[in-house]
Amino acid sequence: MLKDHQVENPRLNAELLFAHSLNLSREELYVRLHRDVKEEEKKALERLIQRRVSGEPLQYILGHQEFWSINFKVDPRVLIPRPETELLVEQSLSILSEKTFEQNPSVLEIGTGSGAIAIALAKEAGHIFLVATDVSRDALILAKENAQTAGVRYQIGFVNGDLFGPLRPSRETGPFDLILSNPPYIVRHKICTLAKEVRDYEPTIALNGGKDGLAFYRRIIPEAPGYLRAGGWLLLEVALGQGSDVSDLIEEEGSFFKPECIPDLSGIGRVVKAQRK
Ligand code: SAH
Repeated sequence: MLKDHQVENPRLNAELLFAHSLNLSREELYVRLHRDVKEEEKKALERLIQRRVSGEPLQYILGHQEFWSINFKVDPRVLIPRPETELLVEQSLSILSEKTFEQNPSVLEIGTGSGAIAIALAKEAGHIFLVATDVSRDALILAKENAQTAGVRYQIGFVNGDLFGPLRPSRETGPFDLILSNPPYIVRHKICTLAKEVRDYEPTIALNGGKDGLAFYRRIIPEAPGYLRAGGWLLLEVALGQGSDVSDLIEEEGSFFKPECIPDLSGIGRVVKAQRK
């Protein structure tokens, strides 16, 4: 059925859904299942297959997704973390390990969603403190839960609001050593052309990058210097083809040294990084 409906990796999907419906791991399916499947178990599996065939992402059905070898709870409140975003984590970690900071580095993540990036960083760099924001209260509830499960809840302050908005009134978190974001970057009118898994199920607020996909970069870049220490870094994930536009925006802003666009494993620019003068 999955194959007939052109679901990608039908065998893997089938195994994972089958294992999920029987409350077993995928490996246990082979090792443990030496019995007939009961009628009600078959019905439960059929319901899951039906959901997958209608386009619901596998990760929302299973309720989790792995990122940076950490298991994250995901549901329609948040974007499913993507493997390519691990590059942003990798680049951040290399900055955090290179520089000798006067005190424990402070990091700001804008648009944390499931919390994947902030939580991965907190786990890897135990000495850092992070502030993670999101405009979606629902996403933050899930992000906090994920941070709790990962054992890094005390390292991350979660705040609700529009970009830098929630930081303004208090300013108590002080200037940051690193600001990073994987903002919504899909060109608005192209959202309807995306796979139905994304288009119909993932939060539009996590996708919509405005008329040309660059709306968030245009807002984040000019505001970032006000929250960065001199010598601090801005790291932004970009969509395919946005690297040079985003680098230009950073250069035009004037507060940064020449930005660098870091390619992912397939050689495509994925992360733009720039150091504040
Ligand atoms: N960091 C996560 C999620 C990225 S999706 C990951 O990489 O997987 C982008 C996130 O930005 C979504 O969670 C969305 O709710 C949030 N967002 C959208 N508009 C925002 C705004 N104006 N201010 C803060 N966050 C915003």
